[in-house]
Amino acid sequence: MAWVSWDDMTQTKSNGGLGFRDFQSFNNAYLAKLSWRLLNNPNSLLAQTLFGKYCKDEEFLQCPGNYSESHGWRGILIGRDLLLENMGWLVGDGKAIKAWPDPWLSLTNQVRPMGPALEWCSYILVSDLLDPDTREWNRDLIRLIFPSLETTILSMKPSRLGASDKLKWLHTKDGEFSTKTGYSTALEARSKDSDRPRPSVNWNRGVWNLKTAPKVQHVIWKALKGALPVGEKLLARQVPIDPLCKRCGKLESINHLLFHCEFAEKVWKQAPFLQYLDQRGLLYLETDWMGLVELTCLRPVGIVATQLAPWLICSLWTSRNNMIFNNKIVTIEEVISRAISSAKEWKNAQGQDEPKKPSQRKIEDVPHYDTVLQTDAAWTETTGTTGLGWAIKTARGTQRFSNSTTFVTSPLMAESLAMREAIKKSKELGIRSLRCESDSSQLIKALSSSFEPLEIYGIISDIKIEASSFDVISFCWIPRERNVDGDSLAKAALRHVTTDSFS
Ligand SMILES: [Zn+2]
Repeated sequence: MAWVSWDDMTQTKSNGGLGFRDFQSFNNAYLAKLSWRLLNNPNSLLAQTLFGKYCKDEEFLQCPGNYSESHGWRGILIGRDLLLENMGWLVGDGKAIKAWPDPWLSLTNQVRPMGPALEWCSYILVSDLLDPDTREWNRDLIRLIFPSLETTILSMKPSRLGASDKLKWLHTKDGEFSTKTGYSTALEARSKDSDRPRPSVNWNRGVWNLKTAPKVQHVIWKALKGALPVGEKLLARQVPIDPLCKRCGKLESINHLLFHCEFAEKVWKQAPFLQYLDQRGLLYLETDWMGLVELTCLRPVGIVATQLAPWLICSLWTSRNNMIFNNKIVTIEEVISRAISSAKEWKNAQGQDEPKKPSQRKIEDVPHYDTVLQTDAAWTETTGTTGLGWAIKTARGTQRFSNSTTFVTSPLMAESLAMREAIKKSKELGIRSLRCESDSSQLIKALSSSFEPLEIYGIISDIKIEASSFDVISFCWIPRERNVDGDSLAKAALRHVTTDSFS
């Protein structure tokens, strides 16, 4: 279905002669394109059909691959995985973004906070870092959790009006996937793969997108990072503790505890997997985890669509702790049945809360307005401090306002912040019809076309949401000479921080 046709291939060949590796990469880029379309048009007939068949219980981005599924669907998942490794989040209201594992700190690379996550706040969302009333960053909390990221985070401007977070492809300017950049990315990934003898863990599929409880993801993550405090690790950290396995007396490494100890080996052998687990060669977390994640359960167990392996790891870990700290001996059967019952319990507790997308009414250009709004910003590059100024002009006269803000990274961001404040104030004043003027052609272009600069995604979303509540609104560019009011207000605000004032 998604595979490249012979025509495509011969055409590419004649364009430069591609080897098999190139062909594979080209193919993967095509598959990624298809996945991108599915991701962005979940209501299309194709998406509805495929998701209805293959992602009944899970989101497309999370659903695990399965050996029994069709060739075409597995192809789409290959494309999806290429996307997963190369997408980042644009912060809207922050409710869809997990603050620790998700990449949300850069518009060009997958950048996440450096772990390990602090235990008490491992599962926070980006929205939890916002003040619930103002929807501005909670600076104290950010200093507490991500002290080294304070400037980075404060320089991002989230949506105040609840625009959804958005995934972007990292290799294009507009954040939209293109086959060309997909191809070069796939090619790069493949050449990296061939340098690496051992398969590595796909963090999204192997940890963060596991269909399992966050606490289980956390244990898996720690295990894969070598951060579970087992005997061997504590010994290395010179913690005075007996580093040997309490069950068999061998050195307790992570792999020993989870796979190589006779006890663990039996747990894996007796677990009700559909596939026969071949343990003639020992299992290693680093190399075998992605395979274990794929294992499905026997139907009567009742958790066919849930992954059991992560729960087994977690159950092995807790039973070990129970033995060491509570002197409780747990049997092989208990480890397995605990894993299954927790998996079931978790599965049953899953509700479906879909984040709502704010409706964005089309902004229309209508010739007559009661009110004209002129906005401007004065920005200092060195400090990021910015003065915002705007004048609201009606037949009765002019009202002047100003404000100031910090952590602004570009003139465009400054101009858009001025516009957001200005429109908010206009709405508060009960104005229903508004012509908004700015001398920033970039901002006006962003507001009157579908092209949205990514760095101001949250701000632009807010302006569009706010705009949709006016009867009539338009945005238009004016030359700097005509924006005297806005300009002088912004400059004055920058000179000394002022609050709203009337004239
Ligand atoms: Zn042992």
